[in-house]
Amino acid sequence: MRKHLKHYINGEWVESTGNETEDVINPATEEVMGTISLGTKEDLDKAVEAAKAALPSFSKTSKEERIELLERIAQEYEKRKDDFIETITDELGSPLKISERVHYNMGYMHFSQAAKSLKDFSFMEDRGNHVIVKETVGVSGLITPWNFPTNQISTKIASALAAGSPMVVKPSELTPFASIILTEVLDAAGVPKGVFNLVNGSGEVIGDGISSHPDIDFVSFTGSVGVGKKIMQNASETIKNFALELGGKSPLVVLEDADVEKAAKAALGHITMNSGQVCSAATRVLIPTSMKKDFEEAIKTAVENTPVGDPRGKNFVGPIISKKQWDRVQSYIEKGTEEATLLVGGPGKPEGIDKGYFAKPTVFTDVKNDMVIAQEEIFGPVTTLITYDTLDEAIEIANDTVYGLAGYVVGYDQENLRKVATSIEAGRIQINNAGPDFSAPFGGYKQSGLGREWGDFGIEEYLEIKSILGMPSAE
Ligand code: NAD
Repeated sequence: MRKHLKHYINGEWVESTGNETEDVINPATEEVMGTISLGTKEDLDKAVEAAKAALPSFSKTSKEERIELLERIAQEYEKRKDDFIETITDELGSPLKISERVHYNMGYMHFSQAAKSLKDFSFMEDRGNHVIVKETVGVSGLITPWNFPTNQISTKIASALAAGSPMVVKPSELTPFASIILTEVLDAAGVPKGVFNLVNGSGEVIGDGISSHPDIDFVSFTGSVGVGKKIMQNASETIKNFALELGGKSPLVVLEDADVEKAAKAALGHITMNSGQVCSAATRVLIPTSMKKDFEEAIKTAVENTPVGDPRGKNFVGPIISKKQWDRVQSYIEKGTEEATLLVGGPGKPEGIDKGYFAKPTVFTDVKNDMVIAQEEIFGPVTTLITYDTLDEAIEIANDTVYGLAGYVVGYDQENLRKVATSIEAGRIQINNAGPDFSAPFGGYKQSGLGREWGDFGIEEYLEIKSILGMPSAE
């Protein structure tokens, strides 16, 4: 049992000013795995005050000092590898191998990538008759969700540090313990006092407090579209800068010449990785009508061979994060059985499992793009198969969504791969499983968000741009 009733403010762990706590549930066992303190507005004010006090000196640190700091963090991060893996498996229910290969690794990569990106980053550019100067945006407020407990928080922290912005961070109350380890990492790496502050708590109190705080200059939020809209409304009160990474309903376009088995495995990977709780997952699979039967057979077999269960066992798919999310996923599966044809999976828990919020990987076929299951983000192990007759039709279907986070295409014809990749309205396109590349920007078109994270584009979000006309030369 982990018990952590303190917040990290101004370089030390301090008691919460309130006495409200929240239990954190292990979704694989339904048992309490730890308890955290729910912060108050007073805790938040103290954290913002500390960040504000750290701004003048931290924003003036040199690029070299910040590179060194990011590299030290990456080194300290590596020392806690086992703690991260164990903790993420317990709080998120992620299979141990995924906690290591995906979650642990992504956090590490964002710190090392930010150090690399910073080396080539220019904070001043001479454009002939004027000079462009990029200056720290001010104090940042970072709010993150539960589905990647180290990824989103690390990319935000690394970018803020690279840009010289002190910050106040509020992770999801469902997975707070990886952030506590990360805070210990930052402390061990010698992040200056007040530059990094962690306040645990609810979205309604601390999240809302961050997005409306007059002394926070920039908010970076990852989470649902609904909360993203609230953040925008709050930020409008003080014309705060903000970046939003929201939901998705991404398409995977399977070309006529694609290898059916490989394409089916790729489609399944999108809904089994992290139990499908991935904002950029492809959950609309667009297949040529001529391939329908073969593809259905291939994905059905692949689902039947995918083990679901105890994340500490040899399973590839763990549970859904909470009872609330499990119920939500189930209601979409019920809806799907009314709207379309259930190919494999379906309602309820997988056979032989009664404890834990496990769901069956589920595939619907004969899906039309205007159905609820093809338009709304389910955030679970559920996908939809939609047929197309021409590539133009596939592109039209792919773009017929309010979202635009990611898009995928598999096949061989180079011209068709290019055509689909350049026509999908989304911020991240992946051709034939290319990547990963932590310097490539990540973010959405349309209701999937505003702004970009990762690498140099991520650092830009934490900077203001100033143009100086008539700047005397340095000598
Ligand atoms: P959520 O929006 O419910 O919560 C995200 C964070 O916001 C949490 O820390 C929560 O406590 C906080 N929050 C809740 N209410 C708030 C309020 N009124 N004001 C400020 N903060 C508040 O999302 P979630 O359920 O944690 O995560 C799932 C959602 O996140 C999905 O929609 C998914 O697509 C999205 N997501 C997007 C990305 C991306 O990069 N685009 C990545 C992961 C998840």
